[in-house]
Amino acid sequence: MTGRTHDLAAFTLLNGVFIYYPLTSISLSTLFVSISANLIGGLTPDIDQPTADLWRRIPAGSIIGRIIYPILGSHRMISHSLLGVIVFGFVSAKFLDAIRNVLIVDMNIVWFSFMIGFVSHLIMDVITKEGEPLLFPLPFKFGIPPFHFLRVQTGGMVEKSIIFPGLMLLNGYLIYSNYHKYLDFLKLFIK
Ligand SMILES: [Zn+2]
Repeated sequence: MTGRTHDLAAFTLLNGVFIYYPLTSISLSTLFVSISANLIGGLTPDIDQPTADLWRRIPAGSIIGRIIYPILGSHRMISHSLLGVIVFGFVSAKFLDAIRNVLIVDMNIVWFSFMIGFVSHLIMDVITKEGEPLLFPLPFKFGIPPFHFLRVQTGGMVEKSIIFPGLMLLNGYLIYSNYHKYLDFLKLFIK
């Protein structure tokens, strides 16, 4: 999937989780940092690709990408696996803990938002033609549906004309059918 679709998928899953676990208190700064962390999480599994969208969005990103790429192996290795969820979850928690005194926000919410983005990436990539090595280091790639020809081509017609608009509609539907939860949430910021 392309970075644009991963951004939207990350936000969609965050939106879905919010409906089941509405927050009763959150600061505006935590909200902004959490949404940013969610989008970064949604692109993070592709850091094993030197041309990844994440690298294009940060200064000197392509240089950092070229350094990290050989460490993580070729595209779609550990960062697209369940082991990757644990490793990246651990590393990001350590990182957020280290900057706890620099950034005064609720780090638990930020971390969850990041991980929701990360997991959304794996959900989206599992329906692509390449599949994912979910049980890395075991050398098997998984895909849904199991038949390669039925899966989605990254950046192709199905992604652009069905999946992306479908996710937009899903967000619209989630907001429409739970608008009272969003209203209550907005009231947290209007005193
Ligand atoms: Zn990916």
